[in-house]
Amino acid sequence: MNINEFIRQVKNGEIDIVKHTQKIIEQCKKINEEHNYFNTISAELALEQAKEIKKLLKSKDKSIKGKKLLGVAVSVKDSICVKNVESTAGSKILKGYEPLFNATVIEKIIGEGGIIIGKTAQDEFGFGSFSVNVGLGFKIPKNPIDKERTCGGSSGGAAGLAKAADFPHIALGESTGGSIAEPASFCDVFGLCPTYGRNSRYGLIDFGNSLDKIGPVGKTCYETALLQEVIEGYDRNDSTSLNAKNGNYNTFLKKSLKGMKIGIIKESFGEGVAPEVEKNVRKGIDKMKEEGIKAEEISLEMPIKYGLAVYYMIATSEASTNLAKYCGMRYGAIEKLEGSFNEYFTKVRSSSFGAEAKRRIIMGTFARMSGFRDAYYIKAAKVRTLIINEYKKTFKKFDALASPAVPVLPPKFSDIEKMSPLQNYMLDIMLVSPNVAGLPHLSVPVGYEKGLPVGMLLTGDHLQEGKLLQLGNVFEGN
Ligand code: GLN
Repeated sequence: MNINEFIRQVKNGEIDIVKHTQKIIEQCKKINEEHNYFNTISAELALEQAKEIKKLLKSKDKSIKGKKLLGVAVSVKDSICVKNVESTAGSKILKGYEPLFNATVIEKIIGEGGIIIGKTAQDEFGFGSFSVNVGLGFKIPKNPIDKERTCGGSSGGAAGLAKAADFPHIALGESTGGSIAEPASFCDVFGLCPTYGRNSRYGLIDFGNSLDKIGPVGKTCYETALLQEVIEGYDRNDSTSLNAKNGNYNTFLKKSLKGMKIGIIKESFGEGVAPEVEKNVRKGIDKMKEEGIKAEEISLEMPIKYGLAVYYMIATSEASTNLAKYCGMRYGAIEKLEGSFNEYFTKVRSSSFGAEAKRRIIMGTFARMSGFRDAYYIKAAKVRTLIINEYKKTFKKFDALASPAVPVLPPKFSDIEKMSPLQNYMLDIMLVSPNVAGLPHLSVPVGYEKGLPVGMLLTGDHLQEGKLLQLGNVFEGN
């Protein structure tokens, strides 16, 4: 059922929201047995919320009429704090951590009548592209289209569930270097990573503070836009929050594409890009042309050449400092206090962080060490500015840029096992630079090849999410 029709029926009482919620919780449990999309299903919270909505409807409370998400199930990436619901960011070190507060985005969703159904699977702290770097003891989510393949990551559970759920549902993901667009492209759904600062990060378990963005993943462009509209806006609890006017995305979805100009990133079709991916992305560009856009090839030198190095330098530097607080005393994994602080700290961290988290701590610490800091971390920060400058120049001419989201079709788990960390990082080539530059980007499903989905990446200038959704809407029902 169309989401608006669903909300209308909930408002009219044609759907009993408590019964509906009970039913979908059962469905979630069933989906989870097979696909591992959830770390936690928050059945109790969901039912409590449904009962509250029913009560308000019964009392004919006027506030209920305008609620944008009334009764809609919303799943939340595990790294986003939900009050009293275990929030681990997929890490053993946060096992048992139940936040005392809601992230700002969660407050907003609940305020609009959205029902929180659970915390979705991810790479530990967001470190990965296939949701296989899950913390010790967590399960790996499987692609809804082919269970032998990855959902992508790190918001893998979010994207998998967005595709698999056959009830009205929108997922909340998070991207530091591509973790919304990449899994969306592997799971045949829409994923919007907004401008850095557009959505509050208050209550997000940090990966890299200058890079992290919370954003929506939905089966349709409309649903993706709807959740973005609900969660965005200035928040005084987040010192990097933008004080910008909110976007009215619904009006964008109705606009014609005539007169829009797209830059096709030349380098994104070169060596290493699967022909199936190229073919479908080009088809996607043709489809936008039919709707009236003009397209032109452009070259993006800095972002393509240096994006990966800059991203992995900055992201690991920030991650390594963020992870220092997990010492087994304040949050999550707490073991018997024994030995000196250093011995205890080492014991907890050695036994609770997974291999990729440890790798990033080592890389990030190295990049910031005295003697290396200027050569690595500071240099990366400088090149980051050059990347931003090149994009800014490009957006003087174009409304958006198009490229594949990922150069390959969703890989099999058996092939991922054979990849080196570097090969793995290289698949982020198209995604890291928009993230480094804080630019909004949207992955849209453009077609299938060999029974597997392909996603096209549309990148826009800062605060131009509306234009991306306007373009993406062409692929609605694709
Ligand atoms: N694949 C990237 C990484 O491993 C992106 C992760 C993310 O956006 N959370 O860092």
